[in-house]
Amino acid sequence: MSSSKPNTDAKKIGMISLGCPKALVDSERILTQLRADGYELVGDYHGADMVVVNTCGFIDNAKRESLDAIGEALRENGKVIVTGCLGANAEEIREAHPNVLDISGPHAYEQVVGAVHQYAPNPVVHDPFVDLVPPQGIKLTPRHYAYLKISEGCNHRCSFCIIPSMRGDLVSRPIGDVMEEATRLKAAGVRELLVISQDTSAYGVDRKYQTDFWNGRPLKTKMQDLCEALGELGIWVRLHYVYPYPHVDKIIPLMAQGKILPYLDIPFQHASMRILKDMKRPAATENTLARINQWRRDCPELTIRSTFIVGFPGETDTDFDELLAFLEQAQLDRVGCFEYSPVAGADANELPGHVPDDLKHERYQRFMQTQQSISAARLAAKVGTRQTIIIDGIDEERDCLVGRSSADAPEIDGVVFVEADGDYQAGQLIETTITGADDYDLFARALDE
Ligand code: SF4
Repeated sequence: MSSSKPNTDAKKIGMISLGCPKALVDSERILTQLRADGYELVGDYHGADMVVVNTCGFIDNAKRESLDAIGEALRENGKVIVTGCLGANAEEIREAHPNVLDISGPHAYEQVVGAVHQYAPNPVVHDPFVDLVPPQGIKLTPRHYAYLKISEGCNHRCSFCIIPSMRGDLVSRPIGDVMEEATRLKAAGVRELLVISQDTSAYGVDRKYQTDFWNGRPLKTKMQDLCEALGELGIWVRLHYVYPYPHVDKIIPLMAQGKILPYLDIPFQHASMRILKDMKRPAATENTLARINQWRRDCPELTIRSTFIVGFPGETDTDFDELLAFLEQAQLDRVGCFEYSPVAGADANELPGHVPDDLKHERYQRFMQTQQSISAARLAAKVGTRQTIIIDGIDEERDCLVGRSSADAPEIDGVVFVEADGDYQAGQLIETTITGADDYDLFARALDE
């Protein structure tokens, strides 16, 4: 084994990670590589030799937040590398912050790591036998759950979205790679995998569902095979960004059998056929409602989360009423809503009939009120039921455990406050009875096993 100098001389790198869970996975990969290369990771500007800012460029607010974060890092530290979605638009960054050292777009792990080596060369010769990276990589999420990114890019061309122009068409990871990463994460203590991509239901289309191998066993690079294989790991598996295509019906039995969590995150975005057409969304309201009803018959515990946009160009009162009627009929469990805001470069900007801001806001309020009473009623119906909860930690203020049921994805859904005696670790599953509910969260009591 070769010797190495102690790591006290190692250059120190700070990281600011903005944006969605997909960007967080990118940050984790960059940090894992830097750590593997002998760099030390620090949590403040002043202790850092350089700062990497992973940006988001999805909507104008996110852009502003990213540009502000770059400005702050320059003021506080001075040596800054920018990467991520906003990095695809280098001129905009250079115009605001000419002193940034290097700019790269999303998933440019090698370029980011190369730039760190160039601008903060590490005097320490890295010894892979001494500077061990934990087998699961450096995770920014708590240790007991992890995001599993199965593909990059998207084959759709939704008119309000510029992700395909930034990230390109769908490129799926071979299923063997994905399963290996999932197995490694489980071995490193992860108890819940959050499957993410731009379009999880399209997984493998670009590879023509090519056969790959995991543990010597053939599997197709396809959503169903992936869900079945992940379901064998014996940990929670939660699906995000699924579209209501017919083949999703085949995943529902896996949920009913308890192989993967009975949870679907489906960004419906609207319910009016006219608006969906202008949004260029591949969806039909009638079929969607029928499909939701069938899924619920096949798996009554199914939780459906979705997001919607109100005030899209051309949205009339009738379109909006259709959307509210859909909410009433679909009875979705968890819903997020955005007021439409134009994104530079998106086709929707050219559409006629932009909705005035005050009307957008009024619709947003009405939408949220409607959904709030639906969500609250669905949560109230859980009082008295038995639920398995994954423990996330302790709520000091309430002096109880805080965790989530199968219906709650971390960071975007509600939580469950659990009264329990004894010691519990984060990531542990605990059986409870639900004792109360408010608009977003549940209250429970641990069952004596
Ligand atoms: S499905 Fe539509 S909104 Fe989602 S990434 Fe693809 S183009 Fe954008």
